[in-house]
Amino acid sequence: MLSLWKELLNIVFPPSADCPFCGGARQGKDLCGRCLTEIKGYHEEIYCSRCGRFTGKGSVIPKAAGHFCFTCRKQDWPFEQVRAAGPYEGVLKEAIHRFKYLGRRGISPYLAGLMAETASREPLFTAIDLLLPVPLADEKLRIRGFNQAALLAEEIGRLLQAPVSGRVLLKDHETSPQAGLTRTARESNLSGVFRVANSNAVQGKNIMIIDDVFTTGCTMSTATIALRDAGARHVFGLTAAAGRYF
Ligand SMILES: [Zn+2]
Ligand SMILES: [Zn+2]
Repeated sequence: MLSLWKELLNIVFPPSADCPFCGGARQGKDLCGRCLTEIKGYHEEIYCSRCGRFTGKGSVIPKAAGHFCFTCRKQDWPFEQVRAAGPYEGVLKEAIHRFKYLGRRGISPYLAGLMAETASREPLFTAIDLLLPVPLADEKLRIRGFNQAALLAEEIGRLLQAPVSGRVLLKDHETSPQAGLTRTARESNLSGVFRVANSNAVQGKNIMIIDDVFTTGCTMSTATIALRDAGARHVFGLTAAAGRYF
């Protein structure tokens, strides 16, 4: 009886839908005020011109000058450039977790919108021929039910009007968890896991790899190497979030 009463109330007074990013109450069909405010702050963030990771809070580096983080000053990457919509913390981190681990696929268009906006601010990204999501191995795909990077890539491709393919870059087997490994160990863990199924699709092309998070850069690097070995011209990366460097 009580549940019937509740149902009736829901019909008469529908509860306001939750904010897709944080689950809090929202106004209208957008995100909640807290999430919108935090997202607006991403425009003020300073990032490395090469890998796209963000500077630490309170950094004194002037915003106008393009600059490189400590890692990028010391070493080269196989990719040209990576950009991320915002730092991997706060509401963005919450949203990615809800999307990836709680299976809230409805978050994908919101994240993809932020990513497409980030890409459209980057002059080099106008020359992209093809978007490729970082693949999941079959076993992981079966467990999770979807590839978060593939959903983001589809949406971004639609927004940027660029072709997307989920069948070019493949991952044959899942690697052991990367967390806690040193960078060298991560690289050897990942080496050879990515495969290009159809090199004709990438030869001479500028590719943009889509992923949810950029942290150490090992996934982006090893995927880039596979694409370049298959004849890709330049490889770029676009992620929803990236870590900070200090
Ligand atoms: Zn929110
Ligand atoms: Zn960097």
